[in-house]
Amino acid sequence: MNSREPKDLSILIHYDEIGLKGKNRPLFIERLSRRIERAASLYCEAKVKKRTGRLVLDTSGLKAPADLIEALRKVFGVAYFARAQCVPLDLEAAANTALEMIAPLKTQSFRVRTRKSFPTTPVSTREWDRAIGARIQARRHLPVDLERPGLTVHVEVIPREAWVYAEKIRGPGGLPVGSVGRVAALLSGGIDSPLAAWRIMKRGCEVVFIHFHGAPYLSRASADKAEDLAHVLNGYQSGSRLYMVPFGNLQKEIVLATQPEYRVVLYRRFMMRIGEHIAGLENARALVTGESLGQVASQTLQNLAAIEEAVRMPILRPLIGMDKDEIIEGAKKLGTFEISIEPDQDCCSLFVPKHPAIRSHAGHLRGLESRLPVQEMIDKVIHETEIIDFDAGGRTRNFSFGEIHSAEEETAILPNA
Ligand code: ATP
Ligand code: MG
Repeated sequence: MNSREPKDLSILIHYDEIGLKGKNRPLFIERLSRRIERAASLYCEAKVKKRTGRLVLDTSGLKAPADLIEALRKVFGVAYFARAQCVPLDLEAAANTALEMIAPLKTQSFRVRTRKSFPTTPVSTREWDRAIGARIQARRHLPVDLERPGLTVHVEVIPREAWVYAEKIRGPGGLPVGSVGRVAALLSGGIDSPLAAWRIMKRGCEVVFIHFHGAPYLSRASADKAEDLAHVLNGYQSGSRLYMVPFGNLQKEIVLATQPEYRVVLYRRFMMRIGEHIAGLENARALVTGESLGQVASQTLQNLAAIEEAVRMPILRPLIGMDKDEIIEGAKKLGTFEISIEPDQDCCSLFVPKHPAIRSHAGHLRGLESRLPVQEMIDKVIHETEIIDFDAGGRTRNFSFGEIHSAEEETAILPNA
């Protein structure tokens, strides 16, 4: 923080009120407060208080202010925020604070915008705009520009106090992570699935990640990419879990028992089943994929239906109606694109023909699977799965499956275990 800025700055946080009615509102605000505290706890004491339609983050002990701002820009549910100072409801106090606050800022012009939350508060916003503006003009010799000002001094009047700030920072919008529930996202090393996971996170879901890699037949490059992608996504939920599923041996069994053209859809059906099992252990209520209609052979209407028939859990496909260039644009903004385009070998490319079936039927696939010990194959792979936990700061810890999930827990949660 600039040494000339007032010492007791807090961060004033606004959330979007749209869609926030009735009983959801307190829950939303509570979740958002906890999410902000979690993201900010790496940089300051991070206590959030409620203030008439806003939240205030106490930044005592602040270190690395730029990093704190970056972290807050990733907290879903935040509409915008500002480093702000609270003053008593007094014009002089607001004007002095505004002057102090803009002292280190360079600008060609400015305007003052006073707003009040309640019409009954005895403050004329017009009068405050003019009076505070006149003081700034007199002291800084700056012209007022109401249309395109270089700087806007904001004064928010709430009962008994006013909040003053000069730099408003946009948040990501959306709903606080966890306010809607938990889901499990199938995260490949590709371009689509990280964006899919991010979009569903923005709609309030906490996301558990699951990656399938082709070891021991393929390199672990896709697994390393999945870990890097999960790291980026972790910035938006401050704490994540990634399951690394070794899929190569299971794929080999499929290859030995079935025709080449159905392999990809069969791989996918097994991924869904394993995903559903892991989701059950994690109390996740849906699976998420990066599928987009018609993008590749496995994403025809028939194949999507044949894949999802393997599980009962809903499958969310946030990118289903997006073109590839729209997805790429989103991935670039998110910062995952550069990781995704690194070369790797996705397990789905293992032992597959050039022309896979584009119209498979669940009944036929079930017939093929009847030659396989499906449940046994799934159980084996799940117990060989490794787990990587990310903390709020992105540090990781690795676990074996058994270290996290006990046998009793599995029997308790899984309906058909
Ligand atoms: P992506 O870019 O996300 O890999 P894609 O266009 O390459 O997507 P597919 O490879 O057909 O499409 O995969 C469709 C979806 O299946 C992916 O978006 C992802 O959710 C899931 N998926 C595919 N391969 C894997 C994998 N190795 N691990 C986890 N999930 C996977
Ligand atoms: Mg892929």
